Amino acid sequence: MSEKIYVTKSSMPSFEEYIDEIRDLWDTHFLTNMGPKFQQLCKELHQYLMVPHIDMLTNGHMALEVTLEAMQLEGEVITTPFTFASTTHAIVRRGLTPVFCDVNEDDFTIDTSKIEALITEKTCAILPVHVYGNICDVEKIEAIAKKHHLKVLYDAAHAFGCTYQGRGVGSFGDASCYSFHATKVFNTIEGGAVCYHDMELGQRIYQLKNFGIRDAENVDFAGTNAKMNEFCAAMGLCNLRHIEQTIQCRKAVTERYRSHLEGVPGIRLNPIQEGVRSNYSYFPVIFDEEVFGCGRDEVAQALAENEIYARKYFYPITNAFSCYEGRFDPEETPVALRLSRQVLTLPLYDALSLEDVDRICAIILSLKR
Ligand SMILES: *Cc1c(COP(=O)(O)O)cnc(C)c1O
Repeated sequence: MSEKIYVTKSSMPSFEEYIDEIRDLWDTHFLTNMGPKFQQLCKELHQYLMVPHIDMLTNGHMALEVTLEAMQLEGEVITTPFTFASTTHAIVRRGLTPVFCDVNEDDFTIDTSKIEALITEKTCAILPVHVYGNICDVEKIEAIAKKHHLKVLYDAAHAFGCTYQGRGVGSFGDASCYSFHATKVFNTIEGGAVCYHDMELGQRIYQLKNFGIRDAENVDFAGTNAKMNEFCAAMGLCNLRHIEQTIQCRKAVTERYRSHLEGVPGIRLNPIQEGVRSNYSYFPVIFDEEVFGCGRDEVAQALAENEIYARKYFYPITNAFSCYEGRFDPEETPVALRLSRQVLTLPLYDALSLEDVDRICAIILSLKR
């Protein structure tokens, strides 16, 4: 009997490596508040991600919320609904209004040809998502933002380690937020980061994540608490030592999937983007029921019967969430809506064996009619 296979399995260093990394915390008793492990990880990530400046927070979601606050925005933010709840919730929780733009059919990122029609006098920013590590059309977005004087904040939660034209993806836009959640390519258990250009913006982010405190006697803003602790930073230091191997394993799994599924009528795979170094973060498959003869839900069901748990990621799209009922209309983003009903994200993690990939693909292909 084979073990249950979930869509992902967190990367972890050996027990001994982590214990070695946290041992000195028992000498220093320095557990949080931007301690030595935090400083070290910031330094290493700054280099690895090839970004101008970086700060780390408790999670990717707080990175988004705090950055939106630090940008001092008001009004409407153009974004996409084909994303995780966090992206849209961050905008709403900051008292801003999300305006949903549809996505590209092929790479799931924002359809830049539809952005300008959505710009009003209230638009203050664009918040695009590098979905599944596919890089948005950053040049076009930059041109639109410049022309209309808009801020750009990228949700780069899926894009850890990706580069475009040799540049770290976190260096595009005014700022980019990464997630270091347990399920992501690189994790600090829970954690996140923001990369930015403007030092003043960085200073506000740093203060906002620490109650707005400037120094011992001055508190400038009603900030929050979103500081990364030393145990999480230590996990990051360990995982970062193995990141190239993690990505190589993911690449091997991805290529095995492709060898079975590429070119099958009714199945569409994630594009390979030119000029992009991929991190192989997800393996989404789009099922065209008419052609494949079997829909996404049936495929998911058949896999589940074999104790393989793929995920309908992203389904539902955020503008169809019950918490937003009556406020947004998912029909306004028809491509995203249809993709959300056709997509299934297959299991992908460094420890997934190629034999398991073969087995998963055999089950999928047996459903073809
Ligand atoms: C994971 C994720 C987030 C949120 O990150 P957390 O670290 O879990 O708070 C935001 N956006 C996207 C697209 C994500 O996948």
